[in-house]
Amino acid sequence: MFSPLVLGLQMGLTTAMPMPAALVALDRHPQFELDRYTRQIEAEGGWWVEMENQLLVVAPPSRLPGLLAGERVVSDLGWLRPDDLALQTRACGIDEGPALPAIADTGRFALVRTPATLLPYKTPDVSEWRPLLPNRTITKDLRARGLMAMAKAAPDADVQLRVDALDTQRWFDTLSTLASYDRSSYGAGIDQARNWLIGEFSTLGLQVTTQTFTIGGTATQVENVIARLPGSHYPDDLVIVGGHYDSRQQNIHDPNQTPGAEDNASGCAGVLEAARVFSQFPPQRTMIFVCFAGEEQGLYGGDAYAHSLQSDDGTITNVELAVIMDMIGYSGDADLDVLLETSSSLSTLFPVFTTAAATYAPELRLISDTSYCCSDHAPLITLGAPALLTIENDYSPSMPSGYQHYHKTTDLPANVTRAQQMGGAILKMNIAVLTEAAGMAPLFADDFE
Ligand SMILES: [Zn+2]
Repeated sequence: MFSPLVLGLQMGLTTAMPMPAALVALDRHPQFELDRYTRQIEAEGGWWVEMENQLLVVAPPSRLPGLLAGERVVSDLGWLRPDDLALQTRACGIDEGPALPAIADTGRFALVRTPATLLPYKTPDVSEWRPLLPNRTITKDLRARGLMAMAKAAPDADVQLRVDALDTQRWFDTLSTLASYDRSSYGAGIDQARNWLIGEFSTLGLQVTTQTFTIGGTATQVENVIARLPGSHYPDDLVIVGGHYDSRQQNIHDPNQTPGAEDNASGCAGVLEAARVFSQFPPQRTMIFVCFAGEEQGLYGGDAYAHSLQSDDGTITNVELAVIMDMIGYSGDADLDVLLETSSSLSTLFPVFTTAAATYAPELRLISDTSYCCSDHAPLITLGAPALLTIENDYSPSMPSGYQHYHKTTDLPANVTRAQQMGGAILKMNIAVLTEAAGMAPLFADDFE
């Protein structure tokens, strides 16, 4: 996984050599200035990694002091090569190892010193580790870099109509109903939740199907719930909205209640709320609302669904966009920070969400994240569909304002603080993006068409 030779070839021999390193605070840098700074670091033979509001700066000993002059240095990290560092997931692995001391927290990963042994998981989409590659942005604070302000547009009346149709109280009531079912993959409540979801989508007039699969290595069968809203103009094009409805305890064999209000009644309720909005406003492209099962044991539902699209005459190439919601309700403080997670090859999606948030939900602080893992967007991305996860950034119990009820019996609706502010803002952004992706059919039929 960490071959010094391969990395050395990728980055040129200079960066493969150990050099002195420091972590710099980026509080004052707008994007233009940051671009100039990183170009300068590379020109002087060094390398860098951007992580939200911190920049790792590594450069030859004669150059580093000049590069750090006038910057606020957070920590001196000694001499480093990229191989000496790795990214470790925080609170999103399946059976993750002990959290190593973080040099910096970034998205759903922490930058740590590479341990002597790395044990990759069998499912690459949920791997606990990522190698650190030089000259990369892992996460970017889009608001602090000035990119939200630049992306703000005049609201479009038709998009605004759909955004305003969002009912955050109704979404929170859905969250609470889902949390009343014990949705462990191995419990009886998961079937009750599935039946309830089928009933709700059917009431909206959508075509509902289920997809049965087994959770890897077990005989346990669970089902994805898939609701279809046919597009008026381009029925073969697909816009997917998804989120898992199963939940778990930290120990996945724990038989205690798994209310999973934040993880992930919040996201699944968001899928249903989006279905309620768009069933009133017919889209031009077909919209598919999916509540996945078997996510918590290794993305089995997302994987089964992505493969079904791939095997179905290449339907996966018809996917215009997939927006996945996982943990969208909690904010530990007044800062409504949300991660936009996708792969670096899909980074053109970031400006789309940035414009939507800046225009319809400016209360959000967006953070882009290209080290995606560990939710139902991952199998779709792996098979070539453009997918992006929206997830709040206070999810991790190891953070000061983090969610202390993650994967516990106390993940109850009452503990999802600021739910309507946070979930409401994320849903406003997502509904605006989905409106643009799915296209707007005329609200009233034209007799002469
Ligand atoms: Zn989840």
